[in-house]
Amino acid sequence: MPRVLIVEDEPQLVRALVINLKARKYEVEAAPDGAAALRLAASRHPDAVLLDLGLPDMDGLDVIRGLRGWTRVPIVVLSARQTSDEKVEALDAGADDYVTKPFGMDELLARLRAAVRRAEPVGMPGDTATVETDDFSIDLAAKTVTRRGRDVHLTPTEWHLLEVLLRNSGRLVGQKQLLQEVWGPSYGRETNYLRVYMAQLRRKLEADPSHPRHFLTVPGMGYRFHQG
Ligand code: CA
Repeated sequence: MPRVLIVEDEPQLVRALVINLKARKYEVEAAPDGAAALRLAASRHPDAVLLDLGLPDMDGLDVIRGLRGWTRVPIVVLSARQTSDEKVEALDAGADDYVTKPFGMDELLARLRAAVRRAEPVGMPGDTATVETDDFSIDLAAKTVTRRGRDVHLTPTEWHLLEVLLRNSGRLVGQKQLLQEVWGPSYGRETNYLRVYMAQLRRKLEADPSHPRHFLTVPGMGYRFHQG
């Protein structure tokens, strides 16, 4: 059963989350601050982290960066912050998703399920296992990317995005389709997720990220992978 680490300093919200998650057969740990969160994550290896950004001892963004130093565990941010900049900052720091407080428990659980599912390995039966370009090579079966002889580390969300684009190599993949395939069926309008994650893929894989040759934007429509 998946183990979830809740990082939240509001006792009432922690209680509500614990009750709801346990009722759905999750194992639950809770940390009231960032230091406890980093300690528990290291000792318990959760399958997902629900993370409040406003913690008493440190900024939640630093918790994300601390976790991303060593783990690819899915992180869903619980944000009281409404501005899109701060959400993008959280995604940029390595979060996989966010829900804005106050949130409905059903929405949160759907996003948690999607985050856990994304972290599971997916096979691509019938497809060629490797993709070579001038700039990088990808082994889909082994889940490795090398660029100029060096391994490139991708997060689970980046992998899924890459896989969907490669599966449709040369074809336009619409924004909504990408969001639904990578994040889940309840997504479709979060185009800022795509901007953030495409920027990350380009930064990691393109020779010149500001003039991409492989991960192309089709303005207003979606994205296209060009093997070239
Ligand atoms: Ca808080």
